[in-house]
Amino acid sequence: MELLKQIPQVDKLTSDDFFIGLNQSMLNKIARDKIEILREDILSGSVKKIDIYVLKEAIKIKYEQLLSSSLKPLINATGVILHTNMGRSLISKEILEKASKVICNYSNLEYNQDKGCRGERYEHVSKHLKTLLDVEDVLVVNNNAAAVFLILNTFAKEQEVVVSRGELVEIGGSFRIPDVMRQSAAVLHEVGATNKTKLQDYKNAINENSAMLMKVHQSNFTIEGFSEDVDFEDIQRLALQHGLLDYYDLGSGYVAPLPYNLSNNELPLAEILKKSPSLISFSGDKLFASVQAGIIVGKKEFIDALKKNQLLRMLRVDKITLSILEETLKAYLEEKYDLIPTLKMLFSDTEALRQRAQKMQSSLKIEACEVIESITVMGGGTLPNREFPSIALHIKGKASSLERDFRKKGVIGRIEEDRFLLDIRTVLEDNEVELLEIINEIVK
Ligand SMILES: *Cc1c(COP(=O)(O)O)cnc(C)c1O
Repeated sequence: MELLKQIPQVDKLTSDDFFIGLNQSMLNKIARDKIEILREDILSGSVKKIDIYVLKEAIKIKYEQLLSSSLKPLINATGVILHTNMGRSLISKEILEKASKVICNYSNLEYNQDKGCRGERYEHVSKHLKTLLDVEDVLVVNNNAAAVFLILNTFAKEQEVVVSRGELVEIGGSFRIPDVMRQSAAVLHEVGATNKTKLQDYKNAINENSAMLMKVHQSNFTIEGFSEDVDFEDIQRLALQHGLLDYYDLGSGYVAPLPYNLSNNELPLAEILKKSPSLISFSGDKLFASVQAGIIVGKKEFIDALKKNQLLRMLRVDKITLSILEETLKAYLEEKYDLIPTLKMLFSDTEALRQRAQKMQSSLKIEACEVIESITVMGGGTLPNREFPSIALHIKGKASSLERDFRKKGVIGRIEEDRFLLDIRTVLEDNEVELLEIINEIVK
């Protein structure tokens, strides 16, 4: 076929000035693929003429696609601070910069500088956590799911764990307590009813094969009405009486008192830890507002046992996690909450948010938006059904098309009663200028 002979050679094609400054071997790989497709199209008769310019354009576009990042920053204007789909808690530049000294250098991650021998990876954050939370010992793993798994596998392998039926929760992203229990080789002994569990139910369940009484935070839902559950404190006392382990999968733990009365029915870590539980675990990137991690705190003898489980090697954290966590802990110790973006956003008062919104509105050319009071939630499977006030820019126009136009430009807002809202609480001050530009582009 005449047309097949007109297909350019890969080298000739990619050494064209059109591709000046681009990497030759990457170009060749892409060009080979494109030429192969072209050859097939000619053979099948769907291409009747070779357009070299179109071919070169296609190669360049593919090249640029490959080099554009898959992970991209977004502007979160939903008002949901711990947005699970958008990365949960944020790390501030200040904290990242301090941590980068360790991340970008060799470090004493597992090196004891005093003695010149191998050191302990888990030591680094433990003194900060022990001081901050006043606990005997700590262990940090990959995430809280890993913490739950490790604890069940270490202490309840082929033994029974008593859990209330009201707490057999699904957290999302395929984490279900009964399934995790099965995979960790622990035997679930469920007690009570969905809406009611009494201390007596736990008591009746205890037998010679019991290992642990476990409480699980409901995290992302609440049971209202005719309902009752047992305080961890009472579960703890019962476990102690029977020589069993007490463990609270707290999900999300927080340090400083929360604003907007959000602390109601939600004890801070210090309060829960006062009673010296055997073990508690929580996420590093929910209300604790740091990096993804599972933080286990409790009695030293149990933490020691966890450290001996071979599984820990599979669940261990790396220097990036540890260094960022250590910097967050230092900020907590000095109460420098400004360095912790999640807390900064949560603690912003609505008056300050209103002023930011009004300032943004006034620098917009259009009359197409108004500042309104809104309501938001914490998100991330924390503080279920607990709403608190916020401030939003209502962008006037068809909500569904606005939502799509903003989303395409990397701004995620929310639709409420057919109105498209940009909630200011979760918009970083650093992103305000960019957001204003995008609003101006979309709302002409
Ligand atoms: C969120 C949560 C988990 C999972 O924690 P990750 O850090 O996301 O792995 C486990 N248990 C409870 C109760 C939770 O709320």
